[in-house]
Parts: sequence; structure tokens; C-alpha cells
Amino acid sequence: MYLPRTVTYGYHCEECEDAIWLPTTRAELQWLKDREHVAREVARHVQSGLDTWINEGLDFLDKHHGHSVMLTKRP
Ligand SMILES: [Zn+2]
Repeated sequence: MYLPRTVTYGYHCEECEDAIWLPTTRAELQWLKDREHVAREVARHVQSGLDTWINEGLDFLDKHHGHSVMLTKRP
């Protein structure tokens, strides 16, 4: 996955030590994490046009469901 230098924020699973970096703002990542169920509803109804980071973020949250996932900033 190509990551421009502007990609600063992402999610980090404390249990798996796995992380994903997404090309969006911290506020957007917080929104997705807090309203995961809303985002999933939207994703279900929108066939295309959803930002890639939303799908990737949901995939990550899905994979680490029930784990301790933190919002994180690149060092
Ligand atoms: Zn995990």
C-alpha cells in the first residue's frame, strides 16, 4: 500500500501489535471508530464512491473486533 508522507494517523491494535495507516484526518478516524455501526450501514447501501480509507478502516476494525484498538499517530 502506497503511503504518502501526509498519512499520519491510523489505528493500532494493542493485542495483535498490528497497525494500519489511513489517508484521512484524526477526527475522521475517531468518527469511524465511534460510529462503526453507522459507517457499516452506509457502506452496505453505497455500492461505490465510499472513500477507500473507510473500507480499509472498517476491514481493520472488523479483523480486530473486541480487541483494544487505539487511534494512533505516526512517530
Ligand atoms: Zn487485534
